[in-house]
Order: sequence, then structure tokens, then C-alpha cells
Amino acid sequence: MTLRKKKPSVVYWLPNANAEEYNLYLNITNQCSNNCYYCFRRYKNGVDGFNLKLHREPSPKEVIQQLQKILNRKNWNEIVFCGFGEPLERLNCILEATPWIRKHFANAIRIDTNGQGYLLNPGREVIKELTEAGVDKISVSLNAHNEETYIHVCKPNFKNTFENVLKFIEDAGKEFNTEVTTVTIPEVDIPKVREMARKMGVTFRIREYIPCFW
Ligand code: SF4
Repeated sequence: MTLRKKKPSVVYWLPNANAEEYNLYLNITNQCSNNCYYCFRRYKNGVDGFNLKLHREPSPKEVIQQLQKILNRKNWNEIVFCGFGEPLERLNCILEATPWIRKHFANAIRIDTNGQGYLLNPGREVIKELTEAGVDKISVSLNAHNEETYIHVCKPNFKNTFENVLKFIEDAGKEFNTEVTTVTIPEVDIPKVREMARKMGVTFRIREYIPCFW
């Protein structure tokens, strides 16, 4: 069966960096406020046999139901909100599903994000709400060392996105175990991004060029 014909997955799993443990991933949306030229979604339907092209977005209840089927199958390393879209497009879904996860899962709950949580959720106390729900890690994809490069690489829907993403990273770093990641594409000055992360007090990680999964 081709991937396209397979039922879309809300919950899927992949081995982590050392390939000895598996992370459980939650694909809750296909919306994204960026249009990165390298985005995996442009030319793939999914990853590792999982179809991640959703026909519709799952409700928080459906996310929990899917998790219930799989949570006890393995000692998952982390549960990560990360799929074929930007998880913070659905802040309320994260806030409703996370307390259930926190109650049933002892390891880290992470959000992999483009860092546009403030722009996507104006007027909300995004960091505080995520902390209170039980999220403990944030990984922000920052594939640019300045605004010009950000616009060129990520083609954001919002204006003044780069500065806003930096503010989000700085604020997240005060509350969560926070990292900045960058893919190895020629436009990005990686030492500069590393230095920016250092100044913001967060860790830095280079990702290989397999977009969307970091
Ligand atoms: S790579 Fe990530 S941030 Fe960029 S368009 Fe794809 S899902 Fe959005």
C-alpha cells in the first residue's frame, strides 16, 4: 500500500538520535505559518511508513484516544508535539491533551515549534499556559541568523517574525528546557545562530537536512 493510501496518523513513532530509544510524536495539524522552501511536506506524504497528511485535525479527545492505544507498548523516551505542521497553531489542543499525558507519562513532553507561538496566539500567555499544562521542553527551529535570511528561507506569513521568534525563545528559555535547532542549509550562518542561542541562554543543536523532524 502506498503511503498516500494509508490512514493518516495522529500518533507515530521514530527512533531518537542514538537509535536505541523511540520518541512518540503527535501530528495534530498540517497548518503552518511558515512556508520553508525545504519543508518535508512539500515532497513527502509522511515518514517511516506513517502517512502524516491529515484529512482533518484531531480533537484533543481523539489525540488522547490514539495515545491510550499506544502509550504502554514501549518505554517511550519523550512525547513530542511535532508533525506535518506547526503545533502552536493549535494551542488549545495542546493545553487539553497535555495534562492527560502528564498524568500518564513520566518522561519529557516536548513541543517542536517554529517559535511563532506569540504571533499565532495573540493576547495569550503562551509560555505560562504551556508550563501550567505540563510541557517541559521546547525546541525551536531557527533556520536563519537574521531577518533577511529568515524571510528568504522560511517565507513566514507574519511580518516582523524573526524578532518575535527570538523573543519567544528568550521567554521559553526562562521556563523550559529550551533548545534552538538549525538545519544545515547553505543560507544559514550556523556559528552566528549558535552564538545567538548562547546569548539567549538556551542550547543549540544542528539538525541534518531532514526537515520537520528535529
Ligand atoms: S519546515 Fe516546519 S516551519 Fe517550515 S513550513 Fe515545514 S512545518 Fe512549517
